[in-house]
Amino acid sequence: MPRLLLLFFFICGFTVILLTAAFSPAQEPTPPPAEPPAAAEAGSEQPAAPVVEADAAPGGPEQPASEQPADPAGEAAAPADAAVAAPKAIDKWNDAHSIWRSRAPYISWPKLLLIFLLFIVWVKSADWVNRDSQIFDMGYGKWNPILFFPFFVLLLIFTFPVIVGFNFFIVSSILLAVCYLATFVPYVLIRNKAVQLHQKVFTPDWFRYEFSLLASKVGVKVEGERKADYEKGAPVDLKAIGAPEERDNQANLITARQSPGYLLVKELVAEMVDRRSDRALLDYTQQAVVSKQHIDGVWHNGEARDRESGDVMLAVMKTLANMNASERRKKQEGKFSAKYKDVNYICPITSQGVPTGERVIVKLLGGYQKAFRTYEDLGMRAKLSEQWSAIMGQDQGLLIMAAMPEAGLTTLMDVSLGETDRLLRDFVSIEEENHRERELENIEVTTYSTAAGQTASTVIPSLIRKYPNVYVLRDFSDPEAAKLLMGEVRDEERLVVTGTHAKEAPAALLRMLQLKVPQRDFAATVSAVLCTRLIRKLCDSCKVAYTPAPELLKKLGIPAGKIEALYRVPKAEEIEKPCQECGGIGFKGRTGLFELLVVDDKIREILVKQPQLDLLRKAARATGMRSFQEEGLLLVAKGVTSIAELQRVLKE
Ligand SMILES: [Zn+2]
Repeated sequence: MPRLLLLFFFICGFTVILLTAAFSPAQEPTPPPAEPPAAAEAGSEQPAAPVVEADAAPGGPEQPASEQPADPAGEAAAPADAAVAAPKAIDKWNDAHSIWRSRAPYISWPKLLLIFLLFIVWVKSADWVNRDSQIFDMGYGKWNPILFFPFFVLLLIFTFPVIVGFNFFIVSSILLAVCYLATFVPYVLIRNKAVQLHQKVFTPDWFRYEFSLLASKVGVKVEGERKADYEKGAPVDLKAIGAPEERDNQANLITARQSPGYLLVKELVAEMVDRRSDRALLDYTQQAVVSKQHIDGVWHNGEARDRESGDVMLAVMKTLANMNASERRKKQEGKFSAKYKDVNYICPITSQGVPTGERVIVKLLGGYQKAFRTYEDLGMRAKLSEQWSAIMGQDQGLLIMAAMPEAGLTTLMDVSLGETDRLLRDFVSIEEENHRERELENIEVTTYSTAAGQTASTVIPSLIRKYPNVYVLRDFSDPEAAKLLMGEVRDEERLVVTGTHAKEAPAALLRMLQLKVPQRDFAATVSAVLCTRLIRKLCDSCKVAYTPAPELLKKLGIPAGKIEALYRVPKAEEIEKPCQECGGIGFKGRTGLFELLVVDDKIREILVKQPQLDLLRKAARATGMRSFQEEGLLLVAKGVTSIAELQRVLKE
């Protein structure tokens, strides 16, 4: 049964309970509080307690107290018309002045609560059976009605006591409970027979384990809980998310859990997170599996393993990702998810046969995104960020942000757009519908569909009619769109923000020309380029200070006497035990280097007449642009990074 339908029935049931409880005609006189002995006389009736659904209170004014001294739950239904005759001159306290209270509906909260608890237990159980019977192929078409209808019908009968005339609360509750157990227990017994030991429920082991889970949540450690094999090893929760249907994902997860490879995948994820790796490469050769971890943009050797365990590990990942585990040649893509240390990760996986065997890449997405919000987070110097903020605040111009592929372009654009004023200016962003970027507040996104034959230029004319102040088109590869937007810059004094992949700021200008962006228009409208590169930061816990030789300082252009020490990664012989902070790498985290090129007339002239990199570089230097090397040396001098690392980055 679809869960929605089930939910619908449950909501109906719940509404019935509430309605019945709240609106059954009932009456209740309130005995004067001044006469407690009389209240005691009324048996179990609590003077102050409101009385139940359809519950004529014993000792109502029309009935002398002696008539029904101890009707414990007070079930006798009062016909609605009886209530009309209720007020009499003298009540059971023989006092004509006791206050008469109403025929308003009464609710007995304890009883309602009891019914409600029973109802909730039933709903939870039925929902569990619905899912569980699908996972274990127990025939959910059979079990859903069994769990559902008997209880539901009884519930209807008992909650309309006036109609049915059956109004014994205790009997009703017991019958309901029996009905619940009579349908639920058989299911548990039958499914327990069909499943593996560690999948059984409501066994003593299961209770012990569930209890220990509960206890550990409140901080109590209970020893000796039973653990299924898949629960051992690294504390990583894997989830199958590759299949479109939740049911298939559940089945994939169950299959995966039965393999010894499951623990190896958990270990892999834990290793990646602990080492701050954003992707792992697994190379399957005849004898072994060599793994590598991509940490802060650099590949490091990971754990090597034998082919057999490598194979079962891969089969589990493919199963979780709903890929074909036995296909070892064709390219396959999928993803699974993992939770470790309370952080959720998505793990896209790609596998492809290569001449030596099979190559697999597992990525780890999530966990880091929240780190970058401000220019400072990116590592931008205060003075540079001021300058760039001013440029982003301009009314008119074409701004280009640039980085190498997967080296922070999206982050740079998000932060730049996030830090600029978007309240007084109207921003519009043009994006392909299947390549949406992170949503930013106060930026209206218009999408186009490549599949439908559209390009950015399809949607720009309609945007132009809205007179926005700033256009964001992250990809300028559509020359027609570029032309339209550059027209907006030139004729309507708008600001356009775009991005491209480039190694350095002057190269970004050339890159735009290569995209067939009209050369003259481009030279006339482009106003600034901000290019970034990522450099690793030395680990503060294990970096080693040294006194640089005067020649080195001279070569680096650092005035003598200005710096006492530079820092580097410890050498192998200097390490007593591997640093816990960085995992023995010597670096932890990355920061950005920036080149900010403000385009002047000289550069515009070069772009039109003789667009060459060396000429652009020279002209850029003349505008006062600091190169990556100069920016990097500032970080070296500050001890943030090492000379070797700067050289590595500049060589990239
Ligand atoms: Zn360290």
